[in-house]
Amino acid sequence: MKSIFSVFKKGLKKTKTSLSRTISGAITGNKAWNDEVYEELEAALIQADFGVQTALGLVEDIRDRYKCGDIATSAEIIDVIKEDLEKRLTSDSREINFQRDGKLTVIMFIGVNGSGKTTTIGKLAHHLKSEGKKVMLAACDTFRAAAVEQLKLWGERTDCPVVAAQHGADPSAVVFDAVSSALAKEADVLLIDTAGRQHTSKGLMDELGKICRTISKVYPNAPHEVWLTVDSTLGSNAVTQAKEFTKVANITGLALTKLDGTGKGGMAVAIHEQLQLPVFFAGFGEQVSDLQPFNADYYISAIFDKE
Ligand code: GDP
Ligand code: MG
Repeated sequence: MKSIFSVFKKGLKKTKTSLSRTISGAITGNKAWNDEVYEELEAALIQADFGVQTALGLVEDIRDRYKCGDIATSAEIIDVIKEDLEKRLTSDSREINFQRDGKLTVIMFIGVNGSGKTTTIGKLAHHLKSEGKKVMLAACDTFRAAAVEQLKLWGERTDCPVVAAQHGADPSAVVFDAVSSALAKEADVLLIDTAGRQHTSKGLMDELGKICRTISKVYPNAPHEVWLTVDSTLGSNAVTQAKEFTKVANITGLALTKLDGTGKGGMAVAIHEQLQLPVFFAGFGEQVSDLQPFNADYYISAIFDKE
């Protein structure tokens, strides 16, 4: 079996390559540690999509520690960066809000079209099943015909029942059936797929609100988690997009997708910094086993450690 760290390492290879090139360019050699070096380092961190705020904070920390004589080599700079990022990424981490005593946990996924909701649900279903949980899926993206079929396919692949209706059906009606059925069948987890038309569309936001209200009517206090799927390949644009969603939905966490396809993996830090939401899962590909619980330690080591 592949180790989880090796999945992070392979998935973040592009980020590591692009970042180590620019970072080593800035800090290696016998350069004097002057403003120019600090600016280069700042630029390298911003380019890897760690976010302006994080880059400025990191460089300030490095500058202070250098002045105090705490650090003197480029290896020590990397250590400071790693330590600092770890602190940032774990600042608000928490366990998933799973209901205890065999009670149903409802997790709803939101995010723009193409961000990876359906695929993440499929992979998560596989992950939760491997932990022995009884999982059901709800196809509430009734806007696109292909979306319902896509989720049904994941249901077959992972052997999880899918509650679905015709293309064009009212998503609230689907979710009503799905929650009722998951409660009746004593499922452990219900994963709800939703439509992702543009986040600026009021129609979509009203629809998400209606789905949430229907869920809690059938099952008070649910959904227990509302996760935003974020396409990592968009880099800092994903942060802007995500902020729009926080205005209209009570998001409780993030699932970062497509970390395998981008040199912009630093955005995990930027988005966390900007939204102050825990990152629960990271997607590294399209296969069932390509989703892993997000692990700050692995993430940082995969980007910064030598082979
Ligand atoms: P949705 O519209 O939000 O439901 O997005 P989908 O789940 O349909 O995903 C959109 C596309 O991104 C599909 O082609 C997926 O296979 C692909 N995708 C999703 N997650 C990942 C990932 O972690 N890595 C890669 N490489 N592709 C992904
Ligand atoms: Mg979908």
